[in-house]
Amino acid sequence: MDYQFPELPYAFNALEPHIDAMTMEIHYTKHHKTYFDKFVAAIKETEMNGAPLEEIFTHVSKLPTPVRNHGGGLYNHTLFWESMAPNAGGAPTGKLADAINVKYGSFEEFKAKFNDAAANRFGSGWAWLSVKADNSLCVCSSANQDNPLMDTSDCPATPILGLDVWEHAYYLKFQNRRPDYISAFWNVVNWEVVQARYESILNK
Ligand code: MN
Repeated sequence: MDYQFPELPYAFNALEPHIDAMTMEIHYTKHHKTYFDKFVAAIKETEMNGAPLEEIFTHVSKLPTPVRNHGGGLYNHTLFWESMAPNAGGAPTGKLADAINVKYGSFEEFKAKFNDAAANRFGSGWAWLSVKADNSLCVCSSANQDNPLMDTSDCPATPILGLDVWEHAYYLKFQNRRPDYISAFWNVVNWEVVQARYESILNK
């Protein structure tokens, strides 16, 4: 299959005032596009050219480092854009809400744990809510453009929500204030999509 650079599912200014339009435009058209272009160039040099990203990640430790960095960058940002929407936020409902309450006690406790993972990731990386092989939830973070699908992960799982905590994701609006950016993120989380991801894993 040919790899496609995904459409941004909303306008650059759609997540204002929480995520500003200038950051969205640069993040999508420059950062995400560069990950896409460099991934396509890197994977062409391997026998996995054309394979789905999820499959590539299960072998990523044996592939050239640019595949890991740029393939991760491609996948992670696509999941991130789809995890947000205008007029979103609030709290999950249904089976995901139940699972969060069972694992973390409450939605607020879950958010605190996710906030810690995002705030305490040193340097560049991502915070994740993921589903482990036994269908339980887990919160963790990863460095650089790694993610929990990679065979290098110390928290192997399928991510259903991700937050980019690279400085390029927030510096124009929030400068060094990563915790303020993390707080703003909760106003744009598209729980319908996150819940659908969760339920599709349960139904596998
Ligand atoms: Mn990014």
